[in-house]
Amino acid sequence: MAPPFPTLLSPIRLGAHVLRNRVVMGSMHTRLDTLDRPVDRQAAFYAARARGGVALVITGGVAPNAAGRMEEDAAVMATAADAEERRPIVDAVHAQGALIVMQILHAGAYAKLAAPVGPGAYRAPINANAARALSTEEVEQTIADHVRAAVLAGQAGFDGVEVMGSEGYLIAEFAAPRTNQRTDRFGGDIAGRGLLASEIVRRIRARTGPGFLIVFRISALDLIEGGNTGAEIAALAQAIEAAGADALDTGIGWHEAQVPTIAYPVPRAAFAFATRALKRAVGIPVMATNRINTPEMAEALLADGTADLVSLARPLLADPDFVAKAAAGRADEIAPCIACNQACLDYIFGAKPATCLVNPRAGREAEDWTARSTRRRVAVVGSGPAGLAAATEAAAAGHSVTLFEAGVQIGGQLLLAREVPGKGEFDGLLAYFHRRLEVTGVELRLGVRADAAALAEFDAVILASGIVPRMPDIPGIGHPKVVAYADVLTGRATVGGEVAIIGMGGIAVDVAEFLAGGDEDFQAVWGIDPAIAMPGGLVPARAEAPARRVTLFQRSRARPGERLGKSTFWIHRLRMRARGVGLVGGVEYVGIDDAGLHYVRDGVAQLHLCDTVVVCAGQEPNDGLAAEVHCQVVGGARLAGELDALRAIEEGTRAALAL
Ligand code: NAP
Ligand code: SF4
Repeated sequence: MAPPFPTLLSPIRLGAHVLRNRVVMGSMHTRLDTLDRPVDRQAAFYAARARGGVALVITGGVAPNAAGRMEEDAAVMATAADAEERRPIVDAVHAQGALIVMQILHAGAYAKLAAPVGPGAYRAPINANAARALSTEEVEQTIADHVRAAVLAGQAGFDGVEVMGSEGYLIAEFAAPRTNQRTDRFGGDIAGRGLLASEIVRRIRARTGPGFLIVFRISALDLIEGGNTGAEIAALAQAIEAAGADALDTGIGWHEAQVPTIAYPVPRAAFAFATRALKRAVGIPVMATNRINTPEMAEALLADGTADLVSLARPLLADPDFVAKAAAGRADEIAPCIACNQACLDYIFGAKPATCLVNPRAGREAEDWTARSTRRRVAVVGSGPAGLAAATEAAAAGHSVTLFEAGVQIGGQLLLAREVPGKGEFDGLLAYFHRRLEVTGVELRLGVRADAAALAEFDAVILASGIVPRMPDIPGIGHPKVVAYADVLTGRATVGGEVAIIGMGGIAVDVAEFLAGGDEDFQAVWGIDPAIAMPGGLVPARAEAPARRVTLFQRSRARPGERLGKSTFWIHRLRMRARGVGLVGGVEYVGIDDAGLHYVRDGVAQLHLCDTVVVCAGQEPNDGLAAEVHCQVVGGARLAGELDALRAIEEGTRAALAL
């Protein structure tokens, strides 16, 4: 039989080193290195991915000097003590047979500091504080600080560094005309604007020698107005290669870009065209990034010559054993990253260390995850994400597990989520759980509603019976034009051309996306120029004709989406705006009748004419059995408010380990 993933798992030369395969763990902000910065937590995190088979680990960004920190308590590599502090991380990764390079990241105008610095005086749209321009002498010092950080990284045992030159941080700000109008030698054409990048590489190479890996992360596509064209990016890449870089990693889009680059609406490998363009420009190996979450996709990108390596970040949060499972012919057991950003990016924005929706152990490798008991007869009631996690974890721990599901298939709310445009990755999560049930030997009883009598024969019960949708007490709620969101998403309800949605939470937004319909062509909808002929790779977005007119309502005056994921709600907001979806807050519902939805706003009675009213008014726990059976209650059955798959999976997992 042919070996699985022959290109992905083949060695490759990178500078003076040979990597054992083509999988690189890409740099991630995790906040594991900020806050109280326990080094054992970081070492365990990286070592787990190295043990799982990745060939090269790139750490989260470390600033070369104080001005380059992302925030006050971010890590800096500026002294021998800084280097010494990181040695346990290096040793832990080397012990697992992988190489490790430290990413040097100067945050530039994105730094959440009182006085950020950049190529010019301006305020980045994602920062409250304006940057001041670095003087020419300060630019020289910044180069020297990058070199010092690289030398110190070498002293700490790192195999090299990645110089962060993308995503809108300092080096990218210098490279782009949008932010660089300097008149010294670090401005002007792309040769001048790119001089900071190439000088950093050239001087690191001069100080460290040929055995030291230098990876440069270049912005292969800026996705901002005033960004570089493909020709300028190619020229910059060639200058960096000539300066002595061993490989190019690709960055896609500045953080302020109004185009999604990694969240679930982005199709898999959507930016491969930018990587291909980069690879045509240089002779050194190139790494592909962004929305590559299966070994099949990675193999295809390497086999067709798009790139020489793949850099995976979030997929390795979801499953540190990605490579080992792929190599063992167990690719269908890889826990898939569903690109939700809920426990990684959104946690970081919320000042919490990153973890993962599908893998609550991520970032918490140093904690004790052993099961308290084994070999008991365990019943799990409900096969939504909480029940699936509980059943498979309990079975993996050695219990004999029976999973009761009243419906005809597993999945609970995941079955609805996967119907939402852009949320097709939930299919992969369901397929993963199907396989986990088989592998761990859970007995699945579909179409069986568990009762107290049936549960009495088990040693322990985990109740994961989920939620029931809330039906608000509004006059006319029984009118035939009122439909439940589940019936809309499953196609059971007939929906007219003018729709009112009661509620403005996550499910209401999903239903609005579903009903507004629209263009599925990702590049056209977001105005992406695959030829990168235009600055930033942007062209005007194609105007869309919505399938229906949709308006969302809420009683609260809170900003729409306030409680939704920071890293994804802006995408929904832009998509809803493009399709004319209305948002009306601060309403008091009066009633529903043949004409439509009556409400009062600011003391004025209003009528929203509509054919259909969809109820997305939150959930109530479906916890009836809890009063009859001694059990652990998890997920929506425990607490329906703020329920999501993230909390459900973590609670199911922890309940199984606590049995
Ligand atoms: P939700 O986020 O709690 O929103 C419930 C909505 O219903 C609110 O807009 C609320 O607004 C309204 N509401 C509550 N009680 C009501 C009542 N008695 N009468 C009329 N309206 C009422 O719940 P959800 O939308 O069902 O989402 C469930 C969970 O899944 C949430 O935790 C959500 O974050 C998560 N989720 C997230 C996403 C995402 O991040 N993209 C997507 C899907 C689901 P008012 O009370 O102001 O009227
Ligand atoms: Fe992927 Fe979501 Fe996990 Fe982040 S939280 S790594 S996006 S599955």
